[in-house]
Amino acid sequence: MPRPASLRLAPLALALACATAGLAHAQTGAVAATPSQVRPDVDKAYTQLMASPQVQKLLDAVKADHDRSVEDLKMLTEIEAPPFKEQKRAEAFLARMKALGLTDAKIDAEGNVVGLRKGTGNGPKLLISAHLDTVFPAGTDVKVKERDGKLYAPGISDDTRGLSVLLSWLKVLNDNKVQTVGDLLFVGNVGEEELGNLRGIKAVFRDHLDIDGMVGLEPAPDGTVLMLGTGSHRYEVTFKGPGGHSFGAFGQVPSAIHGMGRAIAKIADIRTPSFPKTTFTVGTVGGGTSVNTIAPDARMAVDIRSDEMAPLLETEKKILAAIDEAVVEENKRWNVNTLSVSTKLIGDRPGGRTQSDTVIVEAATRANAAFGHKTLLTGASTDATCRCRWAFRPSSSAAAARRAASTR
Ligand SMILES: [Zn+2]
Repeated sequence: MPRPASLRLAPLALALACATAGLAHAQTGAVAATPSQVRPDVDKAYTQLMASPQVQKLLDAVKADHDRSVEDLKMLTEIEAPPFKEQKRAEAFLARMKALGLTDAKIDAEGNVVGLRKGTGNGPKLLISAHLDTVFPAGTDVKVKERDGKLYAPGISDDTRGLSVLLSWLKVLNDNKVQTVGDLLFVGNVGEEELGNLRGIKAVFRDHLDIDGMVGLEPAPDGTVLMLGTGSHRYEVTFKGPGGHSFGAFGQVPSAIHGMGRAIAKIADIRTPSFPKTTFTVGTVGGGTSVNTIAPDARMAVDIRSDEMAPLLETEKKILAAIDEAVVEENKRWNVNTLSVSTKLIGDRPGGRTQSDTVIVEAATRANAAFGHKTLLTGASTDATCRCRWAFRPSSSAAAARRAASTR
């Protein structure tokens, strides 16, 4: 979806705080109540962290790295990265990752930049990701322009800022020789936007079955925490008929455009729940040959979204049925059987929800409080959606068993 293409030159620490739990592309409005308090062990862990001189030193180092990080931001922003054409930016990002100490980093088969920062062992593996692709097509002017202390360029916020923050974290950890117990998997992934269908992050989870947690870096207002992955299905629908002259063939052939018009009218009348928020739209239409031709073809693209899978599938069923009924009606109108339709699924993003009383949401809430931000729990469709779906997969228990074994 189009998003504001500006970025305030705010201290990086703010980006740090609001990025804690993987958030992004936020819908306006809360999807759940913010926990009024977090469990004692989460609170205790955060109180200890914030009181630690070493942590304070790291936070100061992140702030001090701000100007340098903005240089990374400008450099990466000015390399265009439309969906499926992320390679040049991936190579530049890989070079930065290697220069900042991840010398074994590489580009995987899907096109993701992947670098592992090893821990001392037997700890959890945490994925820290930001996406390389932007929504802007090839040829867009991506030159960064500064006005009144703000930087403007297509894609500078979503998600090039995430990429530069990720590099800053890496640099600060290495400069300060921080030795983590768990492994940190730093990833600049492809395929988050549009028809990329999360192909990049899906491949990361496919290739790394031992990931225990994920922090997805995305732009959002301060305090925003994404705890809901909005699912979506998208269809390309093509109507085909014999076509004919508007005068000569009138009455003998159905019209692909009239058939599609019937379908759109039916779709427009479909009712969906407002909670969980469920939406649909016919986003684009095309077809026909000339003004005096009964159209032999017509096509449209349909977008269906919901915060939960059941109403999404229910709405999808109604839309597909409306399309079939429209074709039947158009054929019946002319007493023929020559209009047909085909539907192709062109977008498939899973939906899922992390409950507001889970440790990761409470940790994000507590982290926001530590930086003076009020938490807003929101939903959106991002790489983090993948995490929702994978949260309870069996391999996580293998990692848990590994950790349990190490403490015996
Ligand atoms: Zn994004």
